[in-house]
Amino acid sequence: MTTIALTIAGSDPSGGAGIQADLKTFSALGAYGMSVITALTAQSTQGVDAVLAISPEFIEAQFNTLYQDIKIDSVKIGMLMNKEIVTTVHHLLKTNPIPAIVLDTVMVAKGGHPLLKSDAVTAIRELLLPLATIITPNLPEAAALLDCDEAKNEDEMQNQGQKLLKLGCKAVLMKGGHLPSKESPDYLITHNNIIRMTFPRIQTKNTHGTGCTLSAAIAALLPKNNLEEAIVQAKNYLQGAISHADDLNIGKGIGPTHH
Ligand code: PLP
Repeated sequence: MTTIALTIAGSDPSGGAGIQADLKTFSALGAYGMSVITALTAQSTQGVDAVLAISPEFIEAQFNTLYQDIKIDSVKIGMLMNKEIVTTVHHLLKTNPIPAIVLDTVMVAKGGHPLLKSDAVTAIRELLLPLATIITPNLPEAAALLDCDEAKNEDEMQNQGQKLLKLGCKAVLMKGGHLPSKESPDYLITHNNIIRMTFPRIQTKNTHGTGCTLSAAIAALLPKNNLEEAIVQAKNYLQGAISHADDLNIGKGIGPTHH
């Protein structure tokens, strides 16, 4: 049976991040992809110029139309933009369960443009974290969710991951890309286990959409793998994509990670 994966996220018309990256990733990993769009952006590899949030009513309409017709195996949640959208997505997933929920706690684009209003962070923490099978924060996002300083070493990373777990999600993938070290370890933290994963850093400026791609890959893989296998395969997929990112050579700014 083909995995049916849904992304609830924002649109990136340049194709490197957001809904577009998620659908490409679902396809590449053999899942059938569908989307509910939460926000439109006007952006290129040079940054985000404008954002238009979709109304909660229309987000509900998109979701309900799909849910009534198609059995969804997994969902990845990306850019949510504001508190009303967070509340809407919470309501939808609470009343219409989906077996695997990957929450990518998207807050700011690499170029610095906000993709989530600051007053929506509390709603993500209180409403969506408890529904998630796994959350995938980078270090600034983990710090914002916990309202503390950003982790500067691996001990602090593990500590913060455990605090996030206590907020109600089933697992946390703490992404160490922002650590000032040669390696960029990630930590997969569950109630039974802490697993350290390292992957070599690949030197490229073309990293647009890496977070979106990873969380979408996990959503594509979770229905047919255990959690650890899904994470390892998703990381391998992302590493493969990043290592070829410079061959793409798209745009003048931070180019996309994969086709
Ligand atoms: N645009 C959209 C719609 C996104 O969802 C995201 C990330 O989640 C981005 C842009 C930012 O991508 P990056 O920070 O990799 O540039």
